Amino acid sequence: MIHARAKTIVRRLSALALCASLGLSNVLAYDAHRNDASAEVPAAANVGVLSTMTFGLLSSNVETVVDTVNSVEEMQAARETVDPPKVYTAEPRTVYKSAAFAADEDVEKAGTLLGSYRLSFYCPCSICNGNSHAITKSGTRLTEGRTIAVDSRIIPLGSKVYIDGYGVFIAEDTGSAIRGNRIDICVGSHSQAYSLGIDYANVYLLA
Ligand SMILES: [Zn+2]
Repeated sequence: MIHARAKTIVRRLSALALCASLGLSNVLAYDAHRNDASAEVPAAANVGVLSTMTFGLLSSNVETVVDTVNSVEEMQAARETVDPPKVYTAEPRTVYKSAAFAADEDVEKAGTLLGSYRLSFYCPCSICNGNSHAITKSGTRLTEGRTIAVDSRIIPLGSKVYIDGYGVFIAEDTGSAIRGNRIDICVGSHSQAYSLGIDYANVYLLA
């Protein structure tokens, strides 16, 4: 048994020595070429990098245990930093302005601030839409709490949008007056749209 173990150790040591000498010869080759002021320098530099990689692989094998012990806290820290952004959904609901819908850190993390927008409100009635179909540009039904009309050159149709103070909506519709930094928010009735009037708020394009 002792004999067999010794053999194994010798085999391992000779393997390491072989790797080390290969790496060393590459380093020496690199050094030798460094003094040549010729086009061979980049090729020699590559050899140098290869030998470094060989040593890197060897040392990472040797230090695996140390890395595992240290990585418990490191993994926790990494998990906190890559905490996935909150997922927002636009559900049909009554639209109103509330501090509960104020854009917070999570919104800032999950979205891109597009700037301050002029907000107006419309409803599925024929006065607001010029017809009584109540169908959006996307082909969906105008839905309070979900539908907003946007300038699709800036906010592509289908985008999820967070409006500071109002919450999450989906860019489903367009409108002839909705150009640039303007958004028309769909609500349930004409009187509701009328009473909400005009507002200004920061708008975020959610990922
Ligand atoms: Zn209306």
